Order: sequence, then C-alpha cells, then structure tokens
Amino acid sequence: IDIRGAHADLGSLAIEFSQAPLRHAFQRTLNVGLMIAVVGTVVIALAGWLMGHVLTRRLWSLAVAADKVACGESDIRVFLPGCDEVARVGRAFNSMVDRLGENMSALQASRDRLIKPTEAISEGFALWSADDCLVLCNGQFRAIFEAIEPAIEIGMTHEKLNQLIDEQMVVKKEERQRVGVHPAENQDRADGRDDVVRAREIELSSGRWISLCEFRTPDGELIGIYTDISARKATEETIRYQATHDALTGLPNRSLFAEQLDEALSVARGSGERLAVAFLDLDRFKLVNDGLGHNVGDDLLVAVAERLQRSVGERDLVARMGGDEFILIIRDLGEIDDVRPKIGQILEAIRPSFQIGGQELHVTASIGVSLFPDDSRNADQLLKSADMALYRAKSNGRDRWQLVNAAMNSAAFERIVLEAQLRRAVDQGQFSLVYQPQINLRSGQVVGVETLVRWHHPEWGLVPPEQFIPLAEETGLIYDLGLWILETACLQHATWRAEGLDSLRLAVNISPFQLKRSGLEQDLRAILDRTDMVLDQLEVELTETTLMQEGETTRLLQRLAASGVSVALDDFGTGYSSLSYLRRFPIDRIKIDRSFVCDISGSKSDGALARAVIMLAHGLNIGVIAEGVETAAQLSLLRHFGCDEAQGFLLGEPVSGEDLPAMIVERNQPPAAKVALAAV
Ligand code: C2E
Ligand code: CA
Ligand code: CA
Repeated sequence: IDIRGAHADLGSLAIEFSQAPLRHAFQRTLNVGLMIAVVGTVVIALAGWLMGHVLTRRLWSLAVAADKVACGESDIRVFLPGCDEVARVGRAFNSMVDRLGENMSALQASRDRLIKPTEAISEGFALWSADDCLVLCNGQFRAIFEAIEPAIEIGMTHEKLNQLIDEQMVVKKEERQRVGVHPAENQDRADGRDDVVRAREIELSSGRWISLCEFRTPDGELIGIYTDISARKATEETIRYQATHDALTGLPNRSLFAEQLDEALSVARGSGERLAVAFLDLDRFKLVNDGLGHNVGDDLLVAVAERLQRSVGERDLVARMGGDEFILIIRDLGEIDDVRPKIGQILEAIRPSFQIGGQELHVTASIGVSLFPDDSRNADQLLKSADMALYRAKSNGRDRWQLVNAAMNSAAFERIVLEAQLRRAVDQGQFSLVYQPQINLRSGQVVGVETLVRWHHPEWGLVPPEQFIPLAEETGLIYDLGLWILETACLQHATWRAEGLDSLRLAVNISPFQLKRSGLEQDLRAILDRTDMVLDQLEVELTETTLMQEGETTRLLQRLAASGVSVALDDFGTGYSSLSYLRRFPIDRIKIDRSFVCDISGSKSDGALARAVIMLAHGLNIGVIAEGVETAAQLSLLRHFGCDEAQGFLLGEPVSGEDLPAMIVERNQPPAAKVALAAV
C-alpha cells in the first residue's frame, strides 16, 4: 500500500498474511460442527423414537379401550396423563364412556320397568318385533318352556319357537289325523278376535300342559301369552277319571264302556272283525250283601273285578255297570266258536273261592253274550240282546253262559217294538172302546154293559187286549190308558142317557197296576165329576190279584162303594177263589170266569162248583154273573142254578157305543114283538 503525506508520498507499506491459523481455525470449527451434527442427529433420533413410542402406545390403549366398550363393557377407563392432545382425547373418551354407562343404566331401568310387570304376571309373556325377533320375554315364559329353555334367547324368531314346540309336543293320534302335517299351526283361532294368530292348548313331552294365545299388534309385533295349565289339566283328568270309572273297582263305568263299545264297533265295522258283548251278573249276590253285609259285598266285587280283568285278553274290556253287573267287550274272535273258550275262561276265573273278611266265599256268575256282526251291528241292540241272553242264562239255572239266538232275539225284539208302538198309540188315539151287554136272566133284559178296550194299529190292524194289556201293565202305560178308558166310557154313558137309556149299568175293568199309583182316587173322582157320571150306575171290575193288595185298596173300594159305585169280582174261579175276599170287601157281584162256564154243561164237577158259588154268593147277598156264555145249554143250566146275570157271545158280542142302543132295543123287545117283526 503507498503511503502519501499531505503533499507527498511518504512511502509504501507491505503486509504479509499466513494461512495456517486460518486453516487451523477452520479445521477446528469443522470438527465441532461435525460433532454437533452427529450428536444432534443422535439426540433428535433418540427424541423422535422416544416420542413416537410413547404416543403410539397411548393411542393403542385408547383403541383397546374403545374396542372393549364396543364389546359392551361399560366400566372401561383410559389413563393418559398430560395436557397434550392424546391426553385430551383420553379424557374425552372417559367421559364419553361415563355418559354411555349412564345411558345404559337408564335404558336398563326403562327396560326393567317394561319387564317387571311381565315378571309379576303368572303367565309367560313374550314379544316379537315386526321383523320376527324375540325382543323380550319374562321368566315365566322361560320356565314354561323349560324343556327347550337353553334355546330361548333374545332375537330368536317365532318360527324357531314353533319348531321347538313341535319337537316337544305330544300330539294325540286322532288329532294328528285331523290336523294333518303341522299340528302347531293355527288350527283354532279364538272366537271374536281377529287379531289372534293362534290360541290352543298343547301338551309337551315333559308332561306340562300349556295354553298359548298369540296375537298381532297393529304395528305388526307379535305378543304371546303362555299359561301353564298342567294343574287344571290334572284336575280335569281326575274329574274325567272319576266320571268314567267306577269308584269301587276302578273299572270303566257304564258311560266309558258305551264310548269304548262305539269305538270298538267302528273299528270292527271297518276291519270286519268279530267281537262279543258279554253281560255278566253274579248269581245270588244279594245273599252275600244281605247276609254278610255290604262291606263284604263290596270286597267281593273288587275281587271279582280283579279276576275278570285277569281272565280277559289285552284288547278286551271289562266295565262295571253297577251293582253286581259287569259288562265285557271280547275281541279277537275269528269264528263264532272262539267265544266259547273265552267266556268259559271267565266263568272259571270266578269259580275258585274268594277269601274275604276271613271267610271263604263261593260265587258263580251268569253271562249273556251277543255277537257283532252276527246278532246285530248296532251297540244298543247288542247290549239289549246280551241282556236278554243273560236272563235266559239265569232262568236256565245260573252259573252258565248263553249266546243270543235268533229266535229269542226276534221274540224280544217284537216286544220292544210292541212297547214302543203302545206308547205311541196312547198319544195317537189308536184306542177305542166296545161294550158287551149283560143280561138279567129272569127278565131277559140288558141291565148293563162291560167296557172293553180295542187297539187299532195302523199297520197291524186289531191287536187283542190279551197281548197289550199285560205290556201296558208292565210299562206303567196302563195308568193313563185306564183313565182314558174310564173317561171315554163315562162320556159314552152320558150320551146313552141323553138318548133315553137311563138305567144302564156301566162296568169298567180296573187293572191292579192302576191301583198301585197313589193319586188314583183323585184322578177317578175328577173324571167322574167332569163326565157327570151317575155313580150308582158305575161298576168297577177287579180281579182277586187286585184285592190282594189290601191296605189302601180296601179303603179306596170302601169309599167308592160308599159313593154308590158297585164292585164286581172278575174272573172268579181262576185265582185263589177265596171266599174270604167276599166278606172283607164291599163286593156286589161275582163274575164266574169264562173257563168255568165253558164246560159247565159237560163236566159234573164244574156244574157243581158253579152251583155252589152261586149259592154261597147268594148267602152273602152277592149277585152272580156268568161270563163267556156261548151256548143255549150253558145258559139254561146257569138259569137253573139261579145265576142272576149272564154275558157272552150268545147274548151279545161287544159293540161300539154308537151301535149299542139299537142292539138293546132289539134285545129288550118282548118276545111277541120279536115274532111279529120276524113275521114281517
Ligand atoms: P175280561 O175282563 O174277562 O173280559 C171279557 C173278555 O171275554 C173280553 O175279551 C170279551 O170280548 C170276551 N168274551 C165275551 N164273551 C165271550 C164269549 O162268549 N166267549 C169268549 N170266548 N170270549 C168272550 P177281550 O175284550 O179280548 O178282553 C180280554 C181281557 O183283556 C179282559 O178280560 C180284560 O182282562 C182285559 N181288558 C179288556 N179291556 C180292558 C180294559 O178296558 N181295561 C182293562 N184293565 N183290561 C181290559
Ligand atoms: Ca172284565
Ligand atoms: Ca173276566
């Protein structure tokens, strides 16, 4: 560099620089820089690694917690201290979980509120959403379906429940036939509710009975109410058992028997199988009962029932009809002859002695048997036939059995038909009356008539009284029929009186069976009042059997006699012919029976007897009328014996009430007029 003064150059300055320190300094600086760079990188890397590690782990734990919440755990909390964003997220997460927990318990509470009432009810309750998921059900529902309970879970479809029920359900054979493939489906809807999907009672294989009622809400949900009705069913079963079984022997009773017989017959009608109905009655059981007491009788019946049951086949049935009567259905009979060993076995089973109350009892039985289809195809008829056969067995000497035979069947059947027709005849007015004149043997005049009933059957024609009167007596129909006869005859008598026949005695037959009924006297009086009957022109004809009833009959006759009604003893000579009745009862007339009169002229003894009766009666101041007089010889003998009156075809056949006056006029004409008429 040139150094210059104010006015001149002063000189030159030269400076020399060395690069070594500079190079040195640079080197040092470079080294430091490098070191810093290395350390810095390491530190930064370290710090980065550290920070990254801490942050990721916290986020991870957050993620795990979130997952747990998602899985339904509600008491999950994360712990992320600090004030960074992750920590804030952690706190937010915790409070969110808290809120969720609160909501959950609120939800649970409201669910409980919904479920609790359903728990309180005794029925099982279940609700399916419209998309067919089980939304809720109560404990009772689970309890009821206990057998299939493990499968019951929220979300289960109704279809699934049906399927499970189907598997567990006991389906009665006949029901299966009736219902077809799917018995659990809606075969019975409750009446009056169209929202009811299904209402029915089912039995599960566990023995439990369930009543189910399912209905659809307007929103499409399905509500099911399920009730355990096992107890009720058990009671019903007990009641049914008691109603269908005999309390003493435990055997099926009459009504169950009838049911079973119908069933057996309908099976047999289909299969063509032969079966027998057997009526069994112990012989002389009354002796055991009366002699040894009812307890012994009862024990004997129980023992007999046991033996009967053991003596028949598995498919056979023994029932008790009541008393000492049992009835059996015997099956598996190929041939008619197969019945023989089977019934024989039953009789044999009873024969060995019974040990009852410390005593040895021997009993035998009688059995009546009818066969399907041989005797009848109808249950009632089979029973009737077996019953008839039983009576035949009894009358043949007991300790035996009797098969219905066709002849017996038809005779009894006829009787049954006759009885039915007779009942109808009373209602349909198929009866009429005829009157047979009774002649005074001294004057030859008609002094009275006997009323006789006639039955005009629309198909059979005239049925004789000998056929239907006994039946009417047996069945009690005679009572009403007798009253009708009396009333009709009295009305007829009133008509005759109006026509001028004013001194005619009207005789009416009274059956002993009529007198058995208590209200008879009032009924008679009412008729006599109503018809204005002249009491002393009425005569009742009674038989000795009637008088044997004594007691009330005596008093009734005495009262009737006191009011002027006369009494004739009918059919005298056929019964006991006890003259003691003549004294004891207020009898006005004896009717000598037709059989007596018949050979009065042939046999000496009959003649003598008739004569004695007439004399005796007269001695007691009792009149005598002979019935069935058919010949002039009979008539003249009776007249000779002093008989007062006579009745018979010779003197006049029974005629209608309408025809009677003309007949009487003709008969009562003096002989001279008759001759004159004949001459004309
Ligand atoms: P019964 O009381 O001895 O009646 C007399 C029966 O002898 C009548 O028969 C009559 O028609 C019949 N008879 C009359 N004259 C002669 C004769 O000369 N020869 C023969 N062989 N028979 C004669 P019917 O009407 O058939 O009555 C039979 C029986 O039926 C009666 O016998 C009586 O026991 C009963 N019966 C008839 N009508 C009635 C009635 O209205 N009520 C009641 N309870 N029983 C009646
Ligand atoms: Ca009579
Ligand atoms: Ca008679």
